[in-house]
Amino acid sequence: MITVPPHLEIHDDRFAALVHPMSTLDAIAEGFTWTEGPVWFGDHGCLLFSDIPSQRIMRWSEREGVSLYRGGSAFNNGNTRDRQGRLIGCRHGLRDVVRTEHDGSLTVLADRFEGKRLNSPNDVVVSADGAVWFTDPTYGIISNFEGYRSDPEQPARCVYRLSPQGALSVVVSDFAQPNGLCFSPDEQFLYIAESGSSHDETVPSVIRKFAVEGATLREVGPFATIDTGLPDGMRCDIEGNLWSSAADGVHCFASDGTLLGKIRVPQVVSNLCFGGQDGHRMFITATTSVYSLFVDVKGAEPWTRGQ
Ligand code: MG
Repeated sequence: MITVPPHLEIHDDRFAALVHPMSTLDAIAEGFTWTEGPVWFGDHGCLLFSDIPSQRIMRWSEREGVSLYRGGSAFNNGNTRDRQGRLIGCRHGLRDVVRTEHDGSLTVLADRFEGKRLNSPNDVVVSADGAVWFTDPTYGIISNFEGYRSDPEQPARCVYRLSPQGALSVVVSDFAQPNGLCFSPDEQFLYIAESGSSHDETVPSVIRKFAVEGATLREVGPFATIDTGLPDGMRCDIEGNLWSSAADGVHCFASDGTLLGKIRVPQVVSNLCFGGQDGHRMFITATTSVYSLFVDVKGAEPWTRGQ
C-alpha cells in the first residue's frame, strides 16, 4: 500500500499519475521577501525568479545553488520567455513590460496605453506568433512594498495584447484585478486569474477561461474557483491540466475544471513553473522561499520540457 505524503491532497484518481507519492517538497531557496516570476531556462540549466520587494531577479541551478542574476530590477514581478528564448518581465517600478535581449540589453515593449502610464504590469505570456499578453492590476502602485505608491492613470485594470508589430490593445477590461495567465497547450484558450479578493472580499477568487480568436478573446465562462485564498500565477502542463497558485499550495485542475489535487505548501504560493533537467520538475515561489518537487508530467511551454 502506498502512503500519501502529507504535502499531497488527492481529490481525483487522475492526480496520482501526475505527482508520484514518493516525491518530496523541498525548499531550494530561502530568505527572500516575496518571491514571484519563476521561469525555467533549460538551455542554461537554471531557474530565474523575482524577489519583488528587494528588487532582485535571482538565479538557481542544481550545481551552483542561488546567485544574483540582476539587482535593481525595478520591482520585477512576472517572467516568461518568447520563442527566441528571451526573458520577458513585468516591472512594477517602471510600470512596463521589458525584454532582455541576448546581449543583455533591455528593450521596453510597453509602458503606456493611449498616452497614459500602465498601472503595474504583473504577469506575462507570449503566444507562438510572438504576441505578448499581460495583465495590468494596481498591486505595484497601491503601496511602496512592491513598487511606488501612485494613482492609477488607466480607468480599468486590463489585460493587454501587444502584437508582433508593436500595437497594444485591450483584450479584457472587466477584471477587479487580473493577475496570472497561461495558455492551454494548443493556445486555443487563455486562462486568467481574478485576484481582486485581495482588497475586496466580494470579488470571487476565480480563474476565467477565454477562447483565443486571433487578436481578441471571447469568454467561455468561469473555469474554476480557488477555495483557499486567491489565484495568482498559473501554468498548464502538456496534457492540458492547469496548475494554479493558492494560499494553501498549488491546485491542479483538469481541463474541464475538476479539482484533481493539491500540493500543500507551508507558505502562501504566488506562482509556479515547470522545468528541470528532463522537464519533470515543478518550481514553486511561495512568500519567502522557492520550493521544488518532481512531477510525472511536463509543462506546456516548449522551453520547459528538458533537452
Ligand atoms: Mg502575479
